Amino acid sequence: MTAVMKVENLRMEFGGLVAVNDVSFEVNEGEFIGLIGPNGCGKSTTFNCISGLLNQTSGKIEVFGTDVSKMRPDEIQSLGVTRTFQHTRLWREMSVIENLLVPPRDQFRPSLTVSEFRKALSYGICGLLALLTALLAQSMLVEYLAYLTTITAFGMVAWWSDPQKHVWNSLIQGRNNPPEIERLSKVYSTLDQLEVPHMAPNLANELSGGQSKLVDIGRSMMGDPRLLLLDEPVAGVAGPLAMKIFANLRKLVDETGVSVLIIEHNMDFILRQGVDRIVVMNEGELLMVGTPDEVRSNRAVIEAYLGSGGDTREDSE
Ligand code: ADP
Ligand code: MG
Repeated sequence: MTAVMKVENLRMEFGGLVAVNDVSFEVNEGEFIGLIGPNGCGKSTTFNCISGLLNQTSGKIEVFGTDVSKMRPDEIQSLGVTRTFQHTRLWREMSVIENLLVPPRDQFRPSLTVSEFRKALSYGICGLLALLTALLAQSMLVEYLAYLTTITAFGMVAWWSDPQKHVWNSLIQGRNNPPEIERLSKVYSTLDQLEVPHMAPNLANELSGGQSKLVDIGRSMMGDPRLLLLDEPVAGVAGPLAMKIFANLRKLVDETGVSVLIIEHNMDFILRQGVDRIVVMNEGELLMVGTPDEVRSNRAVIEAYLGSGGDTREDSE
């Protein structure tokens, strides 16, 4: 199994408070993993370190083989990591569709890079010179060659000034599917997958808490993540809907091979949701990593939960 993320001896201090202490675990490709522990045990802080919002005090975090310990959140995101926050904040004045259209990667890059522009410009100049030669040529052969060069040069201009090859695709393959259309159809398939396509035109501020959580999950999936970090996506969501969200996430993992690390502090709940492994934290430290069966029967885990009273979802928000 290939590890997509390695957390090694992670430590995060806030002044005198040690929120995360010597935590190490791995997430493998195509794995669905729960991160659990009583309130205040350092789960969200661990996410904040992985996603680059916090600079850890010590330890190392590797994502897809790259050391991200000193990287910015946007650099980590561009590797294929997407996260959600415990307290969902959608763009409230935007519709659900618009909320989902924002995250896809690379859509804001300029349509031409500097090198593509230079190449198009130099071929354009060559084309003009060749055309001039063709017009002034006295010999048929030179004229013929110059016209050929003109056509080739302007063909290269078209090639380099259309990096996404829309013109090429529509001419050669009869296909003209601009990325905007592809993104929009992905929005609908994502909402379908979450079984909420009817919410597409709603404004985000019209949604209930549970619906907002669903849209937030949809938004996180729109960035084509290879590693998805979800911070209590079902906190405050009614039981049946929460189970449906987990079932959909399981399906997503199985169908696409994405790796999902999900924070949930209700142990009874997560033990029944078909995750592959569970990472258990307590008071900033790693208590154990194991399968749901191993966690269920671990005495230290039971004591941590009985001691904290943190076993109901309702008291998390
Ligand atoms: P969890 O997500 O497991 O409920 P957190 O990671 O949010 O726990 O918090 C762990 C501890 O770190 C808590 O005691 C919390 O008060 C503290 N903490 C979290 N973020 C900060 C911060 N930015 N500044 C100071 N203390 C923080
Ligand atoms: Mg938290």
